[in-house]
Amino acid sequence: MHTTSYWFTIPRDLLYQLNYPQAEIIDGFSGLAYCLHHLSSMLLMADLRDIDRCIGDKSGEWYVRYHQGSRSITPFSPVDKGGASVGTDAFDPTLFIFDAYPGGIGFSDLLYEKHNDLLNATRRLILICPCGSGCPSCVGPTLEVGPSAKNVALAILDLIIEGK
Ligand SMILES: [Zn+2]
Repeated sequence: MHTTSYWFTIPRDLLYQLNYPQAEIIDGFSGLAYCLHHLSSMLLMADLRDIDRCIGDKSGEWYVRYHQGSRSITPFSPVDKGGASVGTDAFDPTLFIFDAYPGGIGFSDLLYEKHNDLLNATRRLILICPCGSGCPSCVGPTLEVGPSAKNVALAILDLIIEGK
C-alpha cells in the first residue's frame, strides 16, 4: 500500500553508545513504537487503527512484523539475505508511524511538526509508569515487546532527545 509515514532513525554512531545486543535494541524500538503509536493517535485525535507502526531499516533491507502476538524479522529480499538474520551493516533501526489510509490523509505531517513534543511525552509516559518491565500502558505487553523493552526504549530516547 502506498501511504505517507512519519519516521525517524538513529544515527549509527549514537547507536553504538547503547550497551545492548541488537535483539534488545529491536525490543526497545518495539516498545518505543508501541508507545508512540498510542500517543500519536491521541495527539491526532484519531483512532488507533487510523495509523499503524513498523520497525525497519532505513535502507529497507528488513522489517519487524507483528502477527497474532508474535513477531518476526523479515528481510525484504530473502534470497539475498538467506534467512532472518540481520547483518550489522544493515542495522539502521528506523521507526515508522504511518497513515493507514492509501495515499495518506495528512497525519504524517502533523506528527513531524510535533516530533519533539511526541518524544518528550513518550519519555515522560514511560518514566512515570509504575510497572517493572513494560505493560500495555507504556511500552506494551512484555510478551509482545520483550522484557528489556522498557529500559532500552528509555535509553534510546535519552540518546535522541535534544538538550538531554
Ligand atoms: Zn508500564
